[in-house]
Amino acid sequence: MAKSKLEDYSLRRRKTLKHTIRSFKIRISSISTSSTPREKADCVVIGAGVVGIALAREHALKGREVLVVDSASKFGAVTSSCNSQAIHVGIYYLPNSLKALFCVRGRNLLYSYCSEHGILHKPTGKLIVTTSHAEILNLYQLMNRAAQNGVDGLRMLEGFEAMKMEPQLQCLKALFSPAPGTVDVHSLMLSLMA
Ligand SMILES: Cc1cc2nc3c(=O)[nH]c(=O)nc-3n(C[C@H](O)[C@H](O)[C@H](O)COP(=O)(O)OP(=O)(O)OC[C@H]3O[C@@H](n4cnc5c(N)ncnc54)[C@H](O)[C@@H]3O)c2cc1C
Repeated sequence: MAKSKLEDYSLRRRKTLKHTIRSFKIRISSISTSSTPREKADCVVIGAGVVGIALAREHALKGREVLVVDSASKFGAVTSSCNSQAIHVGIYYLPNSLKALFCVRGRNLLYSYCSEHGILHKPTGKLIVTTSHAEILNLYQLMNRAAQNGVDGLRMLEGFEAMKMEPQLQCLKALFSPAPGTVDVHSLMLSLMA
C-alpha cells in the first residue's frame, strides 16, 4: 500500500475507533502512533451495519470490551441505512429454513425492542393481492407456507374486503397479514449503540 494510502487508512481507522469508544464505552489499551494501529479488546466486530452493531451490543452488555471496525467513516453507512425499513414476518421463506426461523423470531424480538426503547415503528399490516383467477391457487399456497412458518393472524380476504381497506386497490382476493410493519432504522441503530 502506498504511504499516503496507508496514512489515510490509519486515520480513518482511528476515527472509527474514537467513535467506537463513545458508542460502546470500549477501553482501547493501546493505539500505536505508527501507521499500523494496535488495540486490545475482548471481541472485535468487523462491520458497523445493523448486524455488527447488534452483535457488539450483545457482547458489550455482557461486560466485554468490544471493538467495532469498519472501512466506512460512520456506522450504518452501507446497506443498513439504504433499505426500505420494512419489518418482514417470514411469509415467503421456505419452511424450516434458517431465514424463516430467524425472520419470525426476529420480528417478535424487534417489535419488543422497539416498544421498550421508544423507537418509531408501526405494524402496518400487509396485503398480498391477486388480480387474476390463475393466481388464486398461488395465494393459497403462500398462505399455507406462511402458516407453516408460524406467521400468525393471516386471513384470506375477498377482493371487496381488501378494497374497503385500500380504496385505490383493484383485486380478486388478498392475503392479509397484520404483522408486517415499518421501523425507523436510524433510530434503531442509534439505540443499539447507546
Ligand atoms: C434495497 C434494499 C432494501 C432492503 N430493505 C429491507 C427491508 O425493508 N427490511 C429488512 O429487514 N431488510 C431490508 N434489506 C436488507 C437489510 O438492509 C440488510 O439485511 C442489512 O442492512 C444487513 O446489515 P449488515 O450489518 O449485515 O450489512 P451492512 O449494513 O452492509 O453493514 C456491513 C458493514 O461492513 C462494512 N464492511 C464490509 N466489508 C468490510 C471490510 N472488509 N472491512 C471493514 N468493514 C467492512 C461496511 O462498510 C458496512 O458498514 C434491504 C436491502 C436492500 C439492498
